[in-house]
Amino acid sequence: MRILIVEDDVTLAGQIADNLKDAGYTYDIAHDGEEGHFLGDTEPYDAVILDLGLPVMDGASVLKKWRVDGKKMPVMILTARDSWTDKVEGLDAGADDYLAKPFIVGELLARLRALIRRSAGQTSPVLEVGPVRLDTRNSKVTVDGSAIKLTAQEFKLLSYLMHHEGKVISRTELTEHIYDQDFDKDSNTIEVFVNRIRKKLAVAIIQTVRGLGYRIEWEGDSE
Ligand code: CA
Repeated sequence: MRILIVEDDVTLAGQIADNLKDAGYTYDIAHDGEEGHFLGDTEPYDAVILDLGLPVMDGASVLKKWRVDGKKMPVMILTARDSWTDKVEGLDAGADDYLAKPFIVGELLARLRALIRRSAGQTSPVLEVGPVRLDTRNSKVTVDGSAIKLTAQEFKLLSYLMHHEGKVISRTELTEHIYDQDFDKDSNTIEVFVNRIRKKLAVAIIQTVRGLGYRIEWEGDSE
């Protein structure tokens, strides 16, 4: 899952980024509204954390522009404490949730998980496909109850596929959602990751759809 952080307070942006990284997300950071708008317009994000008070272009204008242009990614706005007009303006501009500053990072992460799973059509923080369980709250993966050790990249890839269970996901889409903007993206590495994950899980839930990509699905033990 790849997140865009638009926040002009460099220290706060860095703290959010560190926490997202620890929680298994990929992220990009913009420090003004114009750069933030550009990234959200041109890169596919699974969610955006958007401060309202930003230089060059304010957060509400950034959000309105995205929505007018048909960008549907979930957006959480960061508002000044006690400013109910900020919250109303932000929600009316197309925000999906808001958090007042100062906030506890644990709450930010919980709200972000909820936004991402709602937009992917999931209802529970624990994703299950057959015997495989992925707990988005602590990034733990188990198969039939036994813990599986995945690298950060393997976890990101599996999490993206499990959030979109049953859908065919191309290598390009996977690449765009597990690597940040500066990464030299090579979709061939995806196949290597998928094969490693398959080996570690030791159950056949990742199907290759020839020429199109991958689909995660449990077809049961019927054979
Ligand atoms: Ca600000």
